[in-house]
Amino acid sequence: MELKEIILLKDGEIVLKGLNRSSFEDRLIRNAKQVLNGLGGFKFVKSQSTIVVKPFEGSDVDEAFERLKKLFGVISLTRACVAPKDFDEIAAYTKEYLKDVLPEYDTFKVNAKRSDKKFPMKSPEICAELGGILLDEFPHLTVDVNNPQVTVTVEIRDESAYIHTDATPGAGGIPVGTGGRAALLLSGGIDSPVAGYMMAKRGVELVGVHFESPPYTSERAKLKVIKLAEKLCDYSINVALFVVPFTRMQERIKESCPEELFTVIMRRYMMRVATKLAERQECGALITGESLGQVASQTLQAIKCTDIVSDLPILRPLIGMDKKEIIAIAQKIDTFETSILPYEDCCTVFTPKHPRTRPTLPVIEGAESYLEDAEALINECVENAELMILGAPGRRNNR
Ligand code: ATP
Ligand code: MG
Repeated sequence: MELKEIILLKDGEIVLKGLNRSSFEDRLIRNAKQVLNGLGGFKFVKSQSTIVVKPFEGSDVDEAFERLKKLFGVISLTRACVAPKDFDEIAAYTKEYLKDVLPEYDTFKVNAKRSDKKFPMKSPEICAELGGILLDEFPHLTVDVNNPQVTVTVEIRDESAYIHTDATPGAGGIPVGTGGRAALLLSGGIDSPVAGYMMAKRGVELVGVHFESPPYTSERAKLKVIKLAEKLCDYSINVALFVVPFTRMQERIKESCPEELFTVIMRRYMMRVATKLAERQECGALITGESLGQVASQTLQAIKCTDIVSDLPILRPLIGMDKKEIIAIAQKIDTFETSILPYEDCCTVFTPKHPRTRPTLPVIEGAESYLEDAEALINECVENAELMILGAPGRRNNR
């Protein structure tokens, strides 16, 4: 008997979206195809709020399942075995497919779903018959219909029968790309990759913007940010990343503005440059990893001063989170270990000893007016930004 496996994706929240449903599903399939790149061929079939992923001969189903666990828009996913629509065959396939799985449990039940009403047996009959056969085959098992450790499900569909055990929770959220695009200010720290992950979960495609200040920041620091952006591709499929040379801008700010205002003024220039790059990539918002009160530049007054220089909405998904909560997500999405590698960030290069925590707009604007070549410096950053396109797993160079 040759066992053929498929993967069933339940497309959760999409169900709520009424008429948009079909385009959401199309996007989900498009994203899934990218994520599975390099693992062999797969066919995708939409069927009753489920997407059936059918691997071609020789495709890597184990790795495909792991990658699909991270795909936004999937509420749950299940590996299933395909059997001919004949009860004896179904029973034989079930015994074989679950021969290593069922010994791990003590209690079970059978659940049958019959969408092909022409199948000669009704659901309760399938459950009773198959339950009996499994009890004979695996005598250590007992049936528990109310609270079984494992449920064996048989779905009788138009094309075939599917046999599977319980579903694995998916990544949730909505498919990346259905929520537009936004520019993520990506440092090498813990917070900004988590902020990107959270917006990707709500369907936003990410364009990273990283400011570097060589020689104050090293090539190693840049590679670290590229690695973080690549990790985000597990969730956000493709990430375009701008690396912006920021040295000259920072030196000019240092020369012409009071030290205690350096951080806020620098952040205002970051926002201005990021806004221009964002518009080039048709982004509808900026994203930062700021969390209120975490550092001197993350007070309401400082945020007011930075918000005002951009006409794009600035999304701060971490604003109300504690560092501990942010770290837990960073660990879950596997960016934490990379983020804590020692590195220099351009933000820390000229950090003032006593930054002003409650800057006011007139003071900041007054200080900025001494930076006469500001417009030219901004344009220089934008023109010299290096653009990289990073891909979903399988498309990457091994770094
Ligand atoms: P992170 O852990 O994300 O670096 P942080 O707690 O260190 O954040 P800051 O250094 O004040 O906080 O930075 C706040 C936000 O500004 C970051 O989350 C990020 O969005 C942006 N940012 C900081 N440095 C850079 C940089 N070099 N390039 C791009 N964005 C940056
Ligand atoms: Mg930082």
